[in-house]
Amino acid sequence: MQKIFLLVLFWGSILPALAQRKTITEAEVGRIVKTLSSDEMQGRLTFTPGIAKASAFIQAEFKKAGLQPLPGLNSYEQAFTMYKVEPISATVQLAGASVPADNIIISAAAEEVNWSNTGVSAPEIVQIGATDNFRQVAGSLISAPKNRLVLVNPAHADIFKRYKNYLEQSEMKTEKSEFATVFVLTDQTNLSSYTVSARNKISEQKLNNVVGYLPGKSKKEEYVVFSGHYDHLGFTKPVIGDSIANGADDDASGITAVIALARHFKKQKNNERSLIFVAFTAEEIGGYGSQYFSKQLDPAKVVAMFNIEMIGKISQFGENAGFITGFERSDFGKIVQQNLAGTNFRFEPDPYVKENLFYRSDNATLARLGVPAHSLSTDKIDSDALYHSVDDEFESLNIPNMTNIIRAIAKAATSIIAGKDTPTRIAPETRN
Ligand SMILES: [Zn+2]
Repeated sequence: MQKIFLLVLFWGSILPALAQRKTITEAEVGRIVKTLSSDEMQGRLTFTPGIAKASAFIQAEFKKAGLQPLPGLNSYEQAFTMYKVEPISATVQLAGASVPADNIIISAAAEEVNWSNTGVSAPEIVQIGATDNFRQVAGSLISAPKNRLVLVNPAHADIFKRYKNYLEQSEMKTEKSEFATVFVLTDQTNLSSYTVSARNKISEQKLNNVVGYLPGKSKKEEYVVFSGHYDHLGFTKPVIGDSIANGADDDASGITAVIALARHFKKQKNNERSLIFVAFTAEEIGGYGSQYFSKQLDPAKVVAMFNIEMIGKISQFGENAGFITGFERSDFGKIVQQNLAGTNFRFEPDPYVKENLFYRSDNATLARLGVPAHSLSTDKIDSDALYHSVDDEFESLNIPNMTNIIRAIAKAATSIIAGKDTPTRIAPETRN
């Protein structure tokens, strides 16, 4: 009797650690992250040939791992369309006087905007006063489907100019729409008359997440998501002749974890819940990949999301340790800690609360929908000189430690994928 009891204990405690060592190896982790962050991938900027190469590579890895496409899809590609908006012309007259082009911003997904105070489709007139928070008000205005003419107090001249540059270089919309928001830098607040006319070029741009699926043995309709983002910044300002932002840590490391975990769990064959492995696109330009993903399934069925962001360097807690963003928002972190109790692995609450990391990655979209969706990271974000630079390269990563972090995540997830633990939902009042 005792012997059997001991045997059970032995298998229960040591076997998972052995399993993770065997299926998640330094050689494979190194190979995958090195490929994803090679110059050939050209920094994986969304809408470029570089990211297409990365997508093909991840799909081949998912295939090798033996994943299925997500139900409803016939490949690992979860493709969608966005619309690039390029302004051709814009003129605004306020009370009979022409506004200089520098003082006009048009945010629209329509080819034409024609408004006047006597016209049929008169916009709502909104003011951003000298003491208002421009960024906040402007952000909420452009995301609402409505025609608006926004009079911006000249106190915001500097940020107005930066916002104009930003939108005109890279404005992307998820849908075509007839609505527009027109910002005018002016000290006028009471408009007797106005006209607005603008033309834009709208072009369709394709992009895709890469998604793999491992059906659960008994709880098929309950999903656990493992994710990272595979896009990065592409070419940036050259430093000593190098202009490729390789994004080895951000976030080739997270995608490497997703692939390694897929292979591990496929071999384990013991997941009661269904597992979804996702490489998100377009995180760096606005989180569009995770936004699209979140609309393709019922968030209520997502039991937990392990979003993995920058695990390539040793954390401020030392080796084999990392942190979880939004730790206090659900008991996901506590479950992770219980699963790691008695091991060398450790995940602590996010020590960089001021950095607002919980809302700076793809977990935020699902968290806002109530999913216990957290990011796991090892990055010393407050002092990481390589972050978003051309020096975020393979050579700066610590592969042995990164491999251990991935093993730790595999172990951390055991009771959740087994259907034994279900993290509490993110409460609506803690949503941002
Ligand atoms: Zn990132």
